[in-house]
Formats: sequence, C-alpha cells, structure tokens
Amino acid sequence: MRKQIVAGNWKMNTTPAEGAELAKAVAELSKETSANVSLIVAPPFTHLCSVSEALKGSKVALSAQNCADQAKGAYTGEVSAQMIASLGASYVILGHSERREYYGETSETLNKKMALAYANNLAPIYCVGEKLEERESEKHFDVVRAQIEEVVFQLTPEQFDQLIIAYEPVWAIGTGKTATADQAQEMHAYIRSVLAEKFGDKANNCSILYGGSCKPSNAKELFAKADVDGGLIGGASLVASDFIAIAKSF
Ligand code: PEP
Repeated sequence: MRKQIVAGNWKMNTTPAEGAELAKAVAELSKETSANVSLIVAPPFTHLCSVSEALKGSKVALSAQNCADQAKGAYTGEVSAQMIASLGASYVILGHSERREYYGETSETLNKKMALAYANNLAPIYCVGEKLEERESEKHFDVVRAQIEEVVFQLTPEQFDQLIIAYEPVWAIGTGKTATADQAQEMHAYIRSVLAEKFGDKANNCSILYGGSCKPSNAKELFAKADVDGGLIGGASLVASDFIAIAKSF
C-alpha cells in the first residue's frame, strides 16, 4: 500500500559533467530494480537541467535539495520552487538537518518553503531527526514531534497525501554510525502515530524513509522493518552501483 522509495541526496558533490554521468549510470541500472520501488535523485541546483535530460525515459525521478522561501524577486542567490519545477523536478528535500544547522532554517522558514513547493507541484521530502545530545538526554521523541507538529500539521489532508518524510538522526548522518534497525523502527512507528493524531488513517499511506549512513550492507535489515519504507541516502548515492544495491534491498 505504501510506496517504497530510495532517494539519493548528492549534497554539494560532483561537477555538472560528473553528475550527468552519475545520473546516466543510475538510470541504466534502475532497469534492474523492482517496479514497486520508486527512485529519486537530488543533485545540486546547477545540475538539475542536465540530470533531468539524463533521466528522461527512465523510472528515476528528479528532486532538488532545497528551494527558496520566497516566490520570486530580489533574493540574490536563491532558487525558486517554480524554477526547480520548470526543469522537470517532482520533489524537493526540505528541512534537512544541514539546512537547519548551518543555514538557520526554522519551522517558520520551512512552512513558507512547503507552501511554495506545493504551489509548484513539488512533493516535499521533509526531514526530521534529533541531535546526539537530544537522544542521550532522551528528548528524541519530543524533538521529532515538534518538527512534525510545527510543519506537517500545518498541511491540508490533500497536501499530506503527497508528502514523504525522512527520519534522519543527525548523529548518524555522514558519520558511518547507523541507527540500529530497532531504533529506526521505534522512531518510524512513533512518527506514524503522531501523523495519525492529525491525519487519521492517511498516516498509513505516508512513506517514511530512514536516512543516516544507510549503505548496501545495512539497508536490508533497515528496510525489513514494518514502518521503514525506504531510505534517503547521502554518501552511498554518489556511487551508482551502491545506490542501486540499496534499492534492491527490500
Ligand atoms: C543525508 O544527509 O541525507 C544522509 C542520509 O547522508 P549519509 O547517507 O551520508 O549519512
């Protein structure tokens, strides 16, 4: 019933030429993956056009890693949701912990970005997750609940239908330290229960991805859990064969 999804967040990696090659390799290898598994790649803004070309005719969908919190105008250096959508993207990652941490993104900013994403037919991949000290002080459930209540609870039921959530414990991102499959399942089930408070049975249709040092060697165990519907993959998405091996891990 729920979509199984593997999404690659390339972050600020690859030149445009390398990105186009990576996209071509992912598109080619995607033929080996199950029809039940959706694939998404999120290259840097500068690569959206050429990656969009490279993915044409394949099952791999295109995402941006961020969008502006304003529709258009005098916002030097920003890239709007409309621009992203016009290049063929269907998704946008919002609320990644690196954006929250290094660029000061708050729930207020994210609500504006969410609205603009939906207005331009981009489905958000909304990231939530606690920092190490928050888990160690057992505040992880409260932190994730607040990230959901402040942003996801502001959506209409129709908007919620399009949403993908990624649970990414900050202490596991790019550290090589993965949450155990049981830790992931515990949080994913909790997230679904929080979503159900607002959206009822629709919460059962929402794909919740795990992110944080997910790789071919641990994806199978993570994806076997009942509430883990796939992964948001950073480092391992930069190697086409690893990304596809993860997509074959359901
Ligand atoms: C991410 O940043 O979304 C991520 C999951 O990164 P990594 O897989 O490299 O931990």
